[in-house]
Amino acid sequence: MHARLGLVIVVGCVLFSLTGVAGEEDKPGLINPSLNANDDAFIGRQSGLFLQEADAVLKRVPPALQEPEERKLALYLIDAVLHDTRAPNRPEVQTFYHTRMEETAQSLETTKVTSGLRIWKMYNHGFIARTATVTVAFDLFRGPAQFRWDAPDGRKGIPSPDFPISDELAKRLVQQCDVLFVSHPHDDHADPFVVTTFLEQGKPVVGPENVFQGKPLGEKITHLKREAHTEQTLAIQNGQRNLKVVIYPGQQYQDGGPQNNVSLVITPEGLSFAHNGDQINDPYPAYQEDFKWIDAVREHHRVDVLMTNNWTMDMARMAKGFNPKLVLLGHQNEMGHQMNDRVPYWGDAKFLGLNVDEARAAGYPVLNMAWGESILLVP
Ligand SMILES: [Zn+2]
Repeated sequence: MHARLGLVIVVGCVLFSLTGVAGEEDKPGLINPSLNANDDAFIGRQSGLFLQEADAVLKRVPPALQEPEERKLALYLIDAVLHDTRAPNRPEVQTFYHTRMEETAQSLETTKVTSGLRIWKMYNHGFIARTATVTVAFDLFRGPAQFRWDAPDGRKGIPSPDFPISDELAKRLVQQCDVLFVSHPHDDHADPFVVTTFLEQGKPVVGPENVFQGKPLGEKITHLKREAHTEQTLAIQNGQRNLKVVIYPGQQYQDGGPQNNVSLVITPEGLSFAHNGDQINDPYPAYQEDFKWIDAVREHHRVDVLMTNNWTMDMARMAKGFNPKLVLLGHQNEMGHQMNDRVPYWGDAKFLGLNVDEARAAGYPVLNMAWGESILLVP
């Protein structure tokens, strides 16, 4: 199981340079060329209605520490729609995604946090955390303009140029933030347009050295020391305020995967939140080196919220190490991945060998939020 997870995810985040396909793709008007026109149109109409219904339920029943059953059903319904192989190219899916991100921009533009910490769940593993004084973004990404399709005769790349949000909308999101943390160089985390926009607005972008390495953009990334438990100071808002930051020296795979920053941010109010990027220790238990610091975070820092990819190996151990008041799941339904690797809200935990339920049983609230949803935590 673990080896399978490794294979799925490592391939999952890297191979984007596939070429478009001919043949099946050349049927004009069909989103899914394996269907006839009537069936293809039906799946479009059904996707639209299901997403509207899920959207209405999520608006009526916002995220809460005890997840209401109604929300679970709405999220699982979204999973079902997004696991149509060709979902990124369905206009109904694009409208759902774009509308929710537009609403999120409005929410950010009008929401002041007076006490505690509000965190918005963005696309894929993107999050935006806001306190009374600062707004911090992690792994903001417009969305993939190409997705993988595991065709019967092998893997192919299918263009999805209309799936990403517009540059204008991305700019509005960036405008609301003070700083961006990029965990690692993979396309679904390091978005060159988003990074460039932060830098153009005079805001720091923090990442490991492998982010846009060898490119002019890479030279403008702030590289903090990857050192467990060590607090460093990062100036934001043109030097008006400082964040305290710890960059834990994570990896996506200790078996040859890229360096992955696990960033812990402490705000001027003393609120703290960590984002683990694509941290995974796979295969487990052979690759345990990172658990030396993961197990010990709680002895050095208080962590209010942990934002973790939903397929990290041994989430229960990670939660115990960080000991947060709340765990927020990320990286669900990355649409650039082939359908079976768009790890859903329902988790696919048994197949992937994950232990999210063990983290819950250990007393940690573990929440799923849909694209653009937010939750306020007042510790
Ligand atoms: Zn990823």
